[in-house]
Amino acid sequence: MTTTTYPSLCMIINGQRVSGGGRRTHAVVNPATGAVLGELPLADVADLDAALDVAAQGFALWRKSTPQQRAAVLNGAARMMLERQEDLARIATLEQGKTLPEARIEVLMNVGLFQFYAGEVQRVYGRALVRPTGMRSTVTHEPVGPVAAFAPWNFPLGNPGRKLGAPIAAGCSVILKAAEETPASALGVLQCLLDAGLPPQVAQAVFGVPDEVSRHLLGSPVIRKLSFTGSTQVGQHLAKLAADDMKRTTMELGGHGPVLVFADADLDRAIETAVAHKYRNAGQVCVSPTRFIVEEPVFEAFRDGFAARAAQMRVGNGLEDGVQMGPMANPRRPEAMERLIGDAVARGARLHTGGERVGNAGFFFAPSVLSDIPLDAAIMNEEPFGPVALINRFADADAMIAEANRLPYGLAAYAWCQGHATRARVAAEVETGMLGINTTMIGGADAPFGGVKWSGHGHEDGPEGLMACLVTKTVHEA
Ligand code: NAD
Repeated sequence: MTTTTYPSLCMIINGQRVSGGGRRTHAVVNPATGAVLGELPLADVADLDAALDVAAQGFALWRKSTPQQRAAVLNGAARMMLERQEDLARIATLEQGKTLPEARIEVLMNVGLFQFYAGEVQRVYGRALVRPTGMRSTVTHEPVGPVAAFAPWNFPLGNPGRKLGAPIAAGCSVILKAAEETPASALGVLQCLLDAGLPPQVAQAVFGVPDEVSRHLLGSPVIRKLSFTGSTQVGQHLAKLAADDMKRTTMELGGHGPVLVFADADLDRAIETAVAHKYRNAGQVCVSPTRFIVEEPVFEAFRDGFAARAAQMRVGNGLEDGVQMGPMANPRRPEAMERLIGDAVARGARLHTGGERVGNAGFFFAPSVLSDIPLDAAIMNEEPFGPVALINRFADADAMIAEANRLPYGLAAYAWCQGHATRARVAAEVETGMLGINTTMIGGADAPFGGVKWSGHGHEDGPEGLMACLVTKTVHEA
């Protein structure tokens, strides 16, 4: 077993490691133990202004790079992430809590995404509109400009990978503010890009008091695009700040994933995959399956099978072999679980397993299952972002689809059914950005990832992720 030392923390501005100097700091904590891993320096106004100046220079430089130069950096960074996979994964587990196998998958997600963009950037085609009159119009795509990207803590490697990969592929510069709770993972991803030859002006990492950083960066005319992943509430606030200067936005916000389980579903497969997907990353996933909307004839079998499996999950330190679920990422999450589950039970919901913290150290919470939850319980309306499955019964497809669409969210939805007509109906009628039918695999480097309604707008990944960092220009010539 290799042991990874937690690195000393810094910001990276113009390629320089910035720390100390009397700056405020934030203690980064291991969620499995509560121990402090390191002190993260927080940006002051001068740091943010320096980063903005450098980002403007970086854009002037990188917008002139060729697609082949960008592809070489992205492919080089992908190779480095693979070489550093074990170290990166262990750092992510140390500061975020998820199991090591899950953290390793995050590295591979980044590798796949960088390689995909390396290819895709060479296929950003324009088009010519040639008129019989001799008029000719040319449509081209140009990088949008310096991007301010804010990434949360739930995918400490994958979120920064998404936030950095697309702007760099598109020829933009980017200032990344990853979560203060998981800085070393983000710095590790950025370092791979810099080591692969990315000019230091092109991508930088700052940390700080989130509202201070976002107000300052979004208040600057240098920044032309905001890319945010996080809660709907914060997303609404940031979108308003971006609107003042008409900055473009990509908003990956919250969800409340409905899972429609029809009477003809392959129940064993549905239960097996849904349990694994539900408790991945202790449920702290925006596309987590949350509201299980089960057709009456299979309700009890599904609920009991699900709860039995959930109760058997091995919870522990994500670095240990065989652990299936780690702690929650920060103390706010178990507090939220207690509040939400307590409220649901007080309103008459049935608790089948879990519902409580595990152990005396760290932020562990047991895999939990509730059923027969009244729709006015807070947990049926607010994204729980934790290891809890909400299982309710419904009479027929009409009622199930109505429940799936009841909330203002529309990020990921899932359905388990056999009949062609039911599949077609679910695909047509469920209001969602992504839908998995008989599968929980709803992502991939080449597939657009994003939501509708309160879950946000725009996409990451896929050709759409690259296009989101480009603007269109049309030149008409006589
Ligand atoms: P939060 O909503 O305050 O923070 C979520 C993320 O947004 C954090 O990374 C935080 O640093 C960042 N953030 C907060 N305010 C910001 C601001 N003004 N400017 C820039 N960034 C800002 O709270 P939290 O306790 O960390 O998470 C709570 C909820 O956020 C969760 O319950 C979940 O609904 C949502 N969340 C969603 C995702 C996702 O992948 N969509 C990830 C993390 C959290």
